[in-house]
Order: sequence, then structure tokens, then C-alpha cells
Amino acid sequence: MLIFDAHCDTLTRAVNEGKNLSANSLHWDVARAGQYDGFVQVLAIWQDPDKVKPSFEGAMRYILAAEKFQREAPRLKLCRNASELEGGLQEKKVCAFLAVEGGECLEGEIENLRLFYQAGVRVLTLTWNHANGLGDGADEPENRGLTPFGREVMQWMQQNGMVVDISHAGERAFYDCIDIARKPIIASHSNARRIHDHPRNLRDEQLLAIAKTGGVIGMNFYTKFIGPPGKADLTALIGHIEHILGIAGEDSLGLGADFDGMYSLPPPIVGVENLYSLFNTLARMNYSDEILEKIASGNFLRVFGNALEQTGNNMDKPVQASEND
Ligand SMILES: [Zn+2]
Repeated sequence: MLIFDAHCDTLTRAVNEGKNLSANSLHWDVARAGQYDGFVQVLAIWQDPDKVKPSFEGAMRYILAAEKFQREAPRLKLCRNASELEGGLQEKKVCAFLAVEGGECLEGEIENLRLFYQAGVRVLTLTWNHANGLGDGADEPENRGLTPFGREVMQWMQQNGMVVDISHAGERAFYDCIDIARKPIIASHSNARRIHDHPRNLRDEQLLAIAKTGGVIGMNFYTKFIGPPGKADLTALIGHIEHILGIAGEDSLGLGADFDGMYSLPPPIVGVENLYSLFNTLARMNYSDEILEKIASGNFLRVFGNALEQTGNNMDKPVQASEND
């Protein structure tokens, strides 16, 4: 089975804790991901705003670390476009896309977004939980929408082959994104609020709005977003999956496990090595191979393939002004 996981914090944690990506004691490593028929991982770069001031330079350090990890683990392939991904999967590499989580580190400059792009970043999660220069996150009681800079960032991304991620966004920022979306929007690691009422989860209307853009919602495995923190199990996670399939449909559900962004997984899942426990359970519930394949990788592959296909020609294109329409 080919797996596409749209969000993990393993790169960030490996750097912070002096570990590597080849083989480690974390939730995810190349050795374990490499046991599947194919694996695509979005590796998030996240600077904890409660500990450091997120900066462009700080994010670039993680990008350099990812390149070092790639040199140490020849099976890891950092991909920038659809053809590199295709080649990597054919060569049985563990393929990865770089993501930046939280637009604070753009420091208000579109030029920094272009530099991230040139350095290989293909996903930006616009906000983390707090407000930033792009808009308000899910923990902001004022719930302000996207700022003019946030709109400019989003439009630049969609014009230049990056994937817009609205996990962590507050509701108004979310709908502002939906309003100006010209391409599919993803929620890389968010669950269903109807099943577990947490501000990081998405309401039914939001699930539907993402589906209408052609986008995908990645299932988060953190028990806190599934049900009772530390207690929610695989059955509870499947409750989210069934609900989202019912609301958003089979073309809009994927995985965004949030490995190493948390410490509490739903039993029996302990890390990337036993994702089959989820898919075997769904197969026993009579979900077809076709639906399971879409959830495991097909849906995110579609969105990333479409978003990134134009890349390669426009690396040197000048920054475009926002349209503001
Ligand atoms: Zn996150």
C-alpha cells in the first residue's frame, strides 16, 4: 500500500533533540516508513512561538538540516515537484515534501515566501494557533480573518505551485481562504468537530467547504483531537473517518497523523510502523480497496500533483502582485 501522510513534526523534533531521520526512537523514521510499498511524507518545520520568536533564518536552519538528513539517509528523497515524486516512488525512495507550519517566519515579506519556495518548501500552514501577520489561529478569541498580507501569501502560493494548508486557522481566516481559493485547499492535520468538539477540529460546513475546493482533510492521530485525551483509540479515530466520508466524500479524506507533534497515539498505533492496523480494520468494515487507496494516498497525491505540476518553470519568475479580487 502506498501511504501519503500530510503532516508530521519529526524533522523539527529530530533537529531539536539531536536525532536523525534514518532510524530513531520517534514516531517516524525512514527505516519504518520504507517498509510500505511506497511512502510520501510532508515534513513540517515548526518553531514553537512559546519558546522562540519564529524567524525566516530559524526556518532555513531546518531546511539545511533536512538536506543533511537526506545525505545521511540515501533512501530519503526531498521532492520539489510531481516528476521528482514520481521518480522517487519508482526508485522505492521514501519521498518527502517540506512544509512550513506558521507564517510568522515569513516576517511579513513575500520575498521570504519565494525564498522558501526556492529552498524546496511546497506547503505553508498559514497560521499556528495564535494570530500572526497572515491571520488569526484557532486559539484566538477575536477570530479575525486573513490580513491583506495573508491574502497576498495565499494568492502567491496558489499561483506558484504551493499547497495552502488551513489546519490551525481560526474560522474567519478559514472562510477568507475558501473565498479566494482558486485551487484545492488542504487541512493537513485536523479532525471532525461534530465527533469531538475541539477548536482545532473542523465543523461540518468547513469539511464541505474544503471538499468543494477539491481539497483534502488529513486525519490527525493525536488523541486530544480524536476524543478523550490519552484515551481515544483507533475505533474513535474511525468515527472521525466515517463522519468525514459522509460529509466531504471519499475524495476529500487523507492522513495527516501529526507524528512527533504529540505524545499520545490511539492504541494500537504506536508510530508509522503500524498504519495497517487502521486500514485492515477499515477493510473488515467493508470499505472497498478503492476507497482505502484514496484515503491512504490517492487523494493527497491528486492535490499535490495538481498544485505542483506547474513547478520547475517558474522558479525564477518575479514575485507577482496580489490581485485583491
Ligand atoms: Zn500542527
